[in-house]
Formats: sequence, C-alpha cells, structure tokens
Amino acid sequence: MDTNIPVSGKPRVVIVGCGFGGLRLAQKLADAPVQVVVVDRNNYHNFQPLLYQVATGALEADSIAYPIRKIFEGQQNFFYRMADVRGLDPQQNLISTNVGDIRYDYLVLATGSLTNFFGIKSIEENAMQIKSIPNALNVRSYIFQNLEQALLEDDAVRKQALLNIVVVGGGPTGVEISGSLAEMRNKVLPKDYPELDFQQMQIFIVEAAGALLGPMSQASQADAKEYLEALGVQVKLNTAIKHYEDDKAYYSDNDYIPTATLIWAAGVNGAVVPGLPDAAVAHNKRVNVNKWNLVEGQQNIFAIGDLAQMVTDEMPKGLPMLAPVALQQADLLAENIQRLLRQEAPKEFSYFNKGVMAIVSRNKAVVDLPKGIHYRGFLGWLTWLFIHLILLVGFRNKVVALVDWAFSYFSTNQALRLIIRPFTRKQMKDDRGKRSAEQATATASYNPTPPAIQEEAQPALG
Ligand SMILES: Cc1cc2nc3c(=O)[nH]c(=O)nc-3n(C[C@H](O)[C@H](O)[C@H](O)COP(=O)(O)OP(=O)(O)OC[C@H]3O[C@@H](n4cnc5c(N)ncnc54)[C@H](O)[C@@H]3O)c2cc1C
Repeated sequence: MDTNIPVSGKPRVVIVGCGFGGLRLAQKLADAPVQVVVVDRNNYHNFQPLLYQVATGALEADSIAYPIRKIFEGQQNFFYRMADVRGLDPQQNLISTNVGDIRYDYLVLATGSLTNFFGIKSIEENAMQIKSIPNALNVRSYIFQNLEQALLEDDAVRKQALLNIVVVGGGPTGVEISGSLAEMRNKVLPKDYPELDFQQMQIFIVEAAGALLGPMSQASQADAKEYLEALGVQVKLNTAIKHYEDDKAYYSDNDYIPTATLIWAAGVNGAVVPGLPDAAVAHNKRVNVNKWNLVEGQQNIFAIGDLAQMVTDEMPKGLPMLAPVALQQADLLAENIQRLLRQEAPKEFSYFNKGVMAIVSRNKAVVDLPKGIHYRGFLGWLTWLFIHLILLVGFRNKVVALVDWAFSYFSTNQALRLIIRPFTRKQMKDDRGKRSAEQATATASYNPTPPAIQEEAQPALG
C-alpha cells in the first residue's frame, strides 16, 4: 500500500506519535524548511493527565482529546497519516505501518509508554488500565455496570466484590483516581443507588513501596495519605498485588481483597517500536538517547518524551515520564533539527523542573515547587486546575472542562454516568490478544520495500 505522501523536495521529518512531545515538535517545525509527517494510530491528541476524570465521570472524553488534523489546519508543511507503526529499518530509512511504508530523512519516535504488568499474566488479563480514552470509558462503564449488578446480587461475597475497587500503584495516577472514586462514592453514588449501602463499598490503594507519590517530597506524600484516608480510602503501603483471578486480588499466597474491579496503575514501560538494535533499548523498554535526544548508535533517529531514556547526573535512572519533559525535549529538538540543516552543532538538553503536583479531590491537592517549596489544600487545587486548563488543547475543550468542573464543584454531582458502551472482561482479553498477535506478526514479517530515491541528503549528526 502507498501512503501517498507527496515528495516535497525538502528533508522529511517523520514523527511517530502525536502526544505531548510529537504534537509540540510538529508545531515548532511549522516554519522550518522541512516536510513534517506525523503518524499516530489515533486521529486525536489525548491529554492523558485528565484520563482519570473521564474514568470517574467528571469530564467528557471529547473534552480531553482534539483532532490532529484540526490542530494543524493551515500548517503548509504538515502531513498526517492515521496508522499503527509496526517497525523501522534504520538502514533503509523507512518505517513500516499498517497502511504502508514511509521514508524519512529524520525520524522522531514519540510513542510514549505502555502499561507495565511486570509479566503477571493474571493481572494483564483481568485488570483495567487508564492509558487511553477507550480504557477510561471502559473503567467508567464497568464501575456502573458492577453497581447495577450488585443490586441484583443475593450472594454477600459476590456483592462485596462488585462494590469494592482496588487501585494498584501509589503514584499520581493511583492517588488521583482513588481520591476521585472515593469522592464519587461518598457524594454521588448514594443519590443514584439508594438501595445500596455505600458504607460497604471499599476503595483501596495498594502500593509496594513505603509511601505514596514516591518521587514527591515527604510532605506531599504525608498530605496525600492524610487526604485519602479522610475520604475513606484504605491505603495499603508495603503491599504488592501478585495475582488477580476470580475477583480476588492476592497480596500474599492466602490473603486477598475481593474485588471485581482492579485498576492497574503500578508502572509503565517505553512503547518501543521494533527495529532498533538491542543496545539502543534499555531494560524498561525506553530508548537510550544522548543529550541531543539522538538514539544510541543512530545518525538520524531521535526519541523524545516518555520513550526517551535520557540519563543525567541528577537523574541516573533517567528523566521522569512527565509531560513537561516531553514538551521541553520537543522544543529543543525542533531547534536542533534546524541547526543541523544549517550545518551547526546541536545544543544539549537540560531539564528545567518547574515542579510537580497531584490532586486528591476537590479543594485538595499537593504541589512541590523547586527549592523545596511545598503547599497543599485549596491553593494546590487551584494551581492544579489552572495549569491543566492552560495545557488542554483547544478553546472548546477548555470551556467544556471548565463548565464540567464548575458544575460538579457547585452541585457535587458529576453528570457523566452513562453506560454507553457496556464492557466485559472477555472483550478486554480479546482486545489484548488481538493486539499482541498483530504486533508479533508485524515484527516477524517485517520486510520493508526499498526506499524511494531521495533528492537530497540530510545532514547527519556525526
Ligand atoms: C493517567 C495518566 C496521568 C498522567 N498525569 C500526568 C500529570 O499529571 N502530569 C504530567 O506531567 N504527566 C502526567 N502523565 C504522563 C504524561 O501524560 C506523559 O509523560 C506524556 O504523555 C508523555 O508524552 P509523549 O509525547 O512522550 O507520549 P504520549 O503523550 O503518550 O503520546 C504517544 C502517542 O504515540 C502514539 N503511538 C504510540 N505508539 C504508536 C505506534 N506504534 N504507532 C502509531 N502511534 C503510536 C499514541 O497514540 C500517542 O498519541 C500522566 C499519564 C497518564 C497515563
């Protein structure tokens, strides 16, 4: 299949992934003398930090996504193909996708990350995750489906499992979703389900380490725990879920929490695209890059954002998987690609940490700023709201999010409780099975066609 991308006579920069990093880079190259080709399997940019709000009915899915083509309306050097990238061939300067091969002069991998189930099959098959909009909508449907089911259930043990929710992972995502679920249980659900006793509904957050919010300050860790416990969340630290089957989340051989809903937010790996030499891929499936985001051993392949394993003296385990890292790397890479085209030396990346934050519930958030500044509570919550509103793509999305938030703030009643697309565990297993089979086939049969004759050579990073 031909992807029909016109030959422009300018060097072609192919960007795989239109998340935070890919989107910013493509925008920053608007006036550069290059052809920009963005490839993403979704035709929208997804604002991941608000996925948990979609999962808990606080925000509409449409308000955290924006059509890629609309974002780039009017950008003359921009081309987009909706495609799943399945492999790359550094020798031939080609990527292989489900709609055909695409030639590049410069390739930028910005594919983000995937949930890491740490090889535990029972969890991978049965747990929910929140990495995409479909995932978040599935969680929302599943929770309400289970509540409807609980009404019909006479067996006390099964009923308890239908009511309980276990969130695994005490990072920002785990903290945010468990706080939001507790708030929904405390304020919203009793109105909708007066026949259910919500004293019985237990929400757990389970974390293998000794504290929540591992990378944040001790003050933030303690505040988050205090906030969650005040909401009635059961915080289980130094506890790892090892197995999940038959609605039982086991944290030792014999001890388990009965739950029909286990949300796995315990870790991520890089979403590496097959085709790079093994040496370029780190243990966490992130791609080793140097200070210019150039992939180890490559001349014209870069990686940015969550996928890029960039090690610094301050962060020997690699820069954190956060939106600001992806944005800042995209900014510098846009400049560096233009420097390369002018035969100038590229600049080295240095991460500017503007601070980190996590929200627990309304009026309750924790914020750590550089130089040890920490604050919490209403001011933290306002900061969180303001930053997320600014970062949301599209004016309409900002307005819709603001209206949804204002409505739930003043009415303490999220409106989005529809089970639009009923969800089953079998569906989850089928989807996962299909994707792994596709990936395996794509990797095994990867055999790109020879590259088109290129009219100009790109300057290389020697
Ligand atoms: C639930 C959740 C909450 C978060 N909260 C915060 C927060 O509060 N603050 C913060 O700073 N960060 C947060 N993060 C992390 C932040 O979202 C990431 O650091 C950021 O999205 C990384 O940007 P990226 O460009 O590297 O990748 P992404 O934004 O993940 O984008 C990757 C893109 O690549 C596409 N893609 C992947 N593989 C392929 C392929 N093979 N073919 C085609 N397309 C592909 C995907 O469709 C996607 O559009 C959160 C993440 C999650 C999941």
